[in-house]
Amino acid sequence: MSKGGIQGDYIKDVAQIRKIIKESENFVFFTGAGISRESGIPTFRDKDGLWKKYDPSKLASRTAFISNPKLVWDFFYSRQRLVCQAECNDAHSAIERFEKTIQERSCWVITQNIDRLHQRAGSQNVIELHGNIFGVLCIECGKREQYNHDNFFNNFSEEKIPICTSCNNILKPDVVLFEEQLPPDEWRQAVQLSSECDVMFIIGSSLNVSPANTLPYHALKNQAVLIEINPNVTEMTSIMDFSLRESAPNILSKIFDLV
Ligand code: NAD
Repeated sequence: MSKGGIQGDYIKDVAQIRKIIKESENFVFFTGAGISRESGIPTFRDKDGLWKKYDPSKLASRTAFISNPKLVWDFFYSRQRLVCQAECNDAHSAIERFEKTIQERSCWVITQNIDRLHQRAGSQNVIELHGNIFGVLCIECGKREQYNHDNFFNNFSEEKIPICTSCNNILKPDVVLFEEQLPPDEWRQAVQLSSECDVMFIIGSSLNVSPANTLPYHALKNQAVLIEINPNVTEMTSIMDFSLRESAPNILSKIFDLV
């Protein structure tokens, strides 16, 4: 196996990965913003990423929301508009097809993304570590409501901050902002699945955000095969069994259409 990966020479790697897939039972796809990039949704930390233009502490932190909810909502409304117009790409679809073909074996997507594109592609087993952009949460009474890309803007107007129908307080996008904890049930399940998997695909994540970026270590403790799909080197490339320096839609179609 190629620890750290062989740049530009992925044909041999793909053949080996396909063999490993045939012999394995439990799969986890751990995904980040890069998987949705070709759907037109910018990542955070690439050269054209959102955090190169905006300050996350002013737009996506708990403190920012409490001090200026209108500014935070303006930012999220613009992202919701973008995601409404986006379509899932070949990477989301390849994972969904794989999930269908492996029958009794276990296959889960654990995503840091808030765009719901895995669900739109048809994936059934999706754990959202950071919530999603079409959910709203009342910060006072805790009431939650879930919408989707088809109906979100039928219910909310970009002119106003949404208000809770139960207690009249302001609603927050039901995503995990900086300074907030991950949802405990989802996190527990993600750790368990990672600790039990035989193969973990780590796709389109810079692996900069903690604690999500500890999941590959849980998989490693189970001696899982770690397969990174990312055009760029990441914080954890050195622990990977394979690093395929390719765009996710391109390489995932190659791996799974042949399995
Ligand atoms: P990140 O911006 O830190 O890293 C993105 C990674 O994707 C980079 O390593 C980059 O090299 C890689 N990449 C770029 N294009 C790619 C492609 N075509 N194929 C494969 N990989 C590609 O994003 P992250 O690691 O997911 O950071 C975590 C945070 O980002 C989470 O909090 C998440 O909620 C948030 N986020 C989500 C979305 C979304 O829902 N689509 C978008 C932006 C950020």
